[in-house]
Amino acid sequence: MNVYDSARMADTLAPLGYVETDKVDDADMVVINTCHIREKASEKVFSELGRLRRMKETRQSEQNRDMSIAVAGCVAQAEGEEIARRAPWVDVIVGPQAYHTLPELVSKLDPSSRGAVMNTDFPVEDKFDFLPEEHAPRGPAAFLSVQEGCDKFCTFCVVPYTRGAEFSRPVKSIIDEAKRLLATGTVELTLLGQNVNAWHGMAVDGSTWNFGRLLYALAELDGLKRLRYVTSHPLDMHDLLFDAHVEIPQLMPYLHLPVQSGSNRILEAMNRRHDRDAYFKIIERLRHGRADMAVSGDFIVGFPGESDRDFADTLNLINEVKYASAYSFKYSPRPGTPAASDDMQIDEAVKSERLAGLQQLLTSQQQAFNHSKLDQVMDVLIERPANRAGQKAGRSPWMQAVHFSEDVGQIGDIVPLKIVSATQNSLAGQAVI
Ligand code: SF4
Repeated sequence: MNVYDSARMADTLAPLGYVETDKVDDADMVVINTCHIREKASEKVFSELGRLRRMKETRQSEQNRDMSIAVAGCVAQAEGEEIARRAPWVDVIVGPQAYHTLPELVSKLDPSSRGAVMNTDFPVEDKFDFLPEEHAPRGPAAFLSVQEGCDKFCTFCVVPYTRGAEFSRPVKSIIDEAKRLLATGTVELTLLGQNVNAWHGMAVDGSTWNFGRLLYALAELDGLKRLRYVTSHPLDMHDLLFDAHVEIPQLMPYLHLPVQSGSNRILEAMNRRHDRDAYFKIIERLRHGRADMAVSGDFIVGFPGESDRDFADTLNLINEVKYASAYSFKYSPRPGTPAASDDMQIDEAVKSERLAGLQQLLTSQQQAFNHSKLDQVMDVLIERPANRAGQKAGRSPWMQAVHFSEDVGQIGDIVPLKIVSATQNSLAGQAVI
């Protein structure tokens, strides 16, 4: 979502004459878009701000040129006052629900004064109503944010405090953005939300649609060849969404469905509000509807109170589900969340040992999944030139990175490729003659 937000921030600044640069030395303004989901996020921000301060001072003393520094995103939201206090050389502090006000904040900048202009409100207005249209094409595969915030309050998670309450964009706003993206060469859309399948937006006739219905409507749009969504919550899987996975050809057979733990005791302590059997039933139903459905997940090891038995349940769940890929982390207390003050914190060494065991299992599953595609012909969306000379890179239906000769197709094409080699992280393909 931060990738999407960063692009939208660039859209808001484009009318002021700002263009993007990937060289920080060139920048008149540096925006750090931050994430607060994991430990040490704010330390990283302060260390980066220290580096930028030296750069700003050198710029001023040697070139008599100013450089504005903005901090955006969830660290700005959660620790804006602290940033203003500890880093008075920061000029703008803006939260994730207020970045549509960037032009207004930038217009208030005064190089002669110290201290930041700040907006970390959760505004009553919908920021999407205020964002300008995209100032540049997003490429063949683009993100589209449909839902933000969360009301679920998992006990480890900071999102409900930084992104705010659950909000669903109205149907028209989403469809309009999708049409604009498709008109400028995008063929694959990934719908984004902290709880994307909890989306329930207002349609033009005033009725409320659920997420499955939105997928059906998007699938009707001219030019849409692939559709994905992330991140979903097991509680929000609903009948029409299961149907969509069977009936919508553009909906890719790959779902990121975090479970976090395989222990019912820990799932309850996390306030996930479902048990492992409910998760198994969802996976079974998805795979019953589409035999080629692959699943990825998120796991937290070492949640407060996690016993060896609980951890064994997680390994057992992974063995049952068989993941195509997964993200896994050691639990880190997030300030202000209920689990952070739990006195059953797990020793770091135990967490590290469990994480190593869990990642070994997940890695072997990812390798097995990738190797299962050897000799198969699959459709690959060509996304960009590859880092390696003479090659292009694209994505399989299952989000695998695929490399192949640059002679094959054009960026934005979907081409059939035969998979000739597989590693843990990518596949190599050849044109089918
Ligand atoms: S559902 Fe997701 S975003 Fe919401 S509190 Fe739980 S982990 Fe955080």
